[in-house]
Amino acid sequence: MTVNVLFAAKAERWSVYEGPLTRALTKAGVDFDLRTDFAPEQVDYIVYAPNSDVQDFTPYTRLKAVLNLWAGVEDVAPNTTLTVPLARMVDHGLSRGMTEWVTGHVLRHHLGMDAHILGQDGVWRKDIPPLARDRPISILGLGTLGQDAATALTMLGFSVTGWSRSEKSIDGVTCLYGDVGLRQTLSGAEIVVLLLPDTPATRDILNAETLALLPRGAVIINPGRGPLIDDDALLAALDSGQVGHATLDVFRTEPLPANDPYWAHPKVTVTPHIASETRSETAAEVIAENIRRGESQEPFLHLVDRSLGY
Ligand code: NAP
Repeated sequence: MTVNVLFAAKAERWSVYEGPLTRALTKAGVDFDLRTDFAPEQVDYIVYAPNSDVQDFTPYTRLKAVLNLWAGVEDVAPNTTLTVPLARMVDHGLSRGMTEWVTGHVLRHHLGMDAHILGQDGVWRKDIPPLARDRPISILGLGTLGQDAATALTMLGFSVTGWSRSEKSIDGVTCLYGDVGLRQTLSGAEIVVLLLPDTPATRDILNAETLALLPRGAVIINPGRGPLIDDDALLAALDSGQVGHATLDVFRTEPLPANDPYWAHPKVTVTPHIASETRSETAAEVIAENIRRGESQEPFLHLVDRSLGY
């Protein structure tokens, strides 16, 4: 029987995904009809972006699963009209893109590149940075993206400590968890990378109290989600020198309003939520595999635990 797959995302994404999804579903051996509109009661799966027009899932009476195109699910996980399994995006291309972005920004701060790139002023600055092994880095969040970034930074020689909700073991990375682990990872970190999801338990995880645990002058890099940081506390810590620099890719309000103090702050780098994108070719294969699984009564991959919010 033909499987009806609704693509529910912003209109401009259709041209990016139609080809890859068609190829991947064909390759997976699924007999499918893929469209941007169906009568809701005919839909079996929704390939979903949380900023699409579909916000009420109630009319989708034969829906088997929602397959999110994004890694972050904070805008769909709390939706009480959604009663079928929700899978999030785990995509090799997304992971590699994030690791490249994180590595680049870590190296910028580690090597003190700004002094040479921005300070072309005739001054012969011969500041030698420490080797990576002497630069402690903390990664908050050791999921798909955090683990990939932690492993890459370890391979560059950095001394990496990571923090997650549950206990982990990753080669070369000191893995911590729980409240004590959070204090321990922050108290030694000269660079902190946030790769946590936005959930009730992670909101404002960097606040006045936790920022005070850092060594003076530490750098914050946030490609996770804006609400992970108490913005007033971060601005105060930047102004006092407790935090030396913040590189921020994500914000509570996006696009970041033009009058937001982050834009003009001399110790802040703003990037416009570009740390990593879902890559259509690799993501389509993940979605097709989940639809194949659904049709074969096999367990879905990458399911969201709605009680935890990620
Ligand atoms: P993931 O695989 O679900 O990993 C989440 C990690 O956070 C896990 O290690 C989890 O711990 C940890 N965590 C969750 N709640 C926690 C808590 N209360 N205390 C301590 N640790 C907690 O997610 P991912 O694929 O790595 O993605 C992470 C986030 O990156 C996404 O949610 C999204 O917000 C963001 N993102 C941003 C961009 C961008 O372009 N800026 C792109 C993609 C994703 P456990 O391992 O113990 O479960």
